[in-house]
Amino acid sequence: MFELDGRVAVVTGGNGGIGLGMARGLARAGARVVVAARNEAKSKAAVAELERLGAEALAVPLDVTDEASIAALVPAVTARWGRLDILVNNAGINIRKPAHELEPAEWRRVLDTNLTAAFLLARAVYPVMKRQGGGKIINIGSMLSIFGAAFAPAYGASKGGLVQLTKSLASAWARDNIQVNAVLPGWIDTDLTRQARREVPGLDELVLRRTPAGRWGVPDDLAGVAVFLASRASDFVTGAVIPVDGGFSIQL
Ligand code: NDP
Repeated sequence: MFELDGRVAVVTGGNGGIGLGMARGLARAGARVVVAARNEAKSKAAVAELERLGAEALAVPLDVTDEASIAALVPAVTARWGRLDILVNNAGINIRKPAHELEPAEWRRVLDTNLTAAFLLARAVYPVMKRQGGGKIINIGSMLSIFGAAFAPAYGASKGGLVQLTKSLASAWARDNIQVNAVLPGWIDTDLTRQARREVPGLDELVLRRTPAGRWGVPDDLAGVAVFLASRASDFVTGAVIPVDGGFSIQL
C-alpha cells in the first residue's frame, strides 16, 4: 500500500532540510526522485545521498520564481523517466520583518516563492498527471498557515493561502484522481529555522516549552507523511491539512 516502485516524485527544494527529509522517505519507499532547486552543489550532494539509499535520483535546476524555469521542469523529468506521479511543493523562504518594515518587493518575493510557485507548478504537472490517470500533490505549509506572527506577515499570508489553494485544487482535480493535500510542519531544525533562532530572541525556549513532544522536529519526521500522501494509502484523502508538529498546534 505504501510502496512507490516506479513512481516519479519531484521535490522542490529537495536538496536540503525538510525537502531532503521527504525525498529520503520517498526514495526508501521505492520512488525515483527529482531534486529541483537552485543550488547545484547542494542538489548534487542530495542526489548522491539518495543514490546511496538505492534510489534513482536526478537533479534538475529550478528557480520557482522563474516561469521559464518552471516550464522547463516537466519536459526534463518526462524526458528522463517518461512520467511524473508526485509533486512536493516544498521550496520556501521567509523574510522576518514586521509589516511596517517589509518592502513591497520583499512581500512579492515571499509570495512568489511560497504561494504563486505552488500554483504554477501544480498547473504545469496537471496535464501529465491527468493523462496518466492520477497523481499526488503535496503542499508544505507551516504553523503560520494557522497562527499569526508579528515577524512574518508575508510568510503567514503565503502559507495561509497555500492551504486554501490546496483545497481549491483538490476540489477541481478529485475526479481526475489527483489528490492534493497540505502538510503543516511544526518547528523543524533546518537552515531556515537556525537563521530564525538567530533573528528571533527566545524562539528556542518558546518552541521547547510549547511543543508537547518537548523537542524540535528533524527533517526525517516528515518522511512518513510524505510517503503516505504520495502512495495508494491516501487515494481517498484529498484537500486535507495535516500538522506534523509534535502537538504544537493543539496545546494552548
Ligand atoms: P531550507 O532553507 O533548509 O530549505 C529551503 C529549500 O527551498 C532549499 O532547499 C532551497 O534550495 C529551496 N528554495 C528556496 N527558494 C527557492 C527558489 N526560488 N527556487 C527553488 N528552490 C528554492 O528550509 P526548510 O527545509 O526548513 O523549509 C522547507 C519548507 O518547509 C519551506 O516551504 C518552509 O516554509 C517549510 N517549513 C519549515 C519549517 C521549519 O521549522 N523548518 C516549519 C514549517 C514550514 P536552493 O537554495 O538550492 O534553491
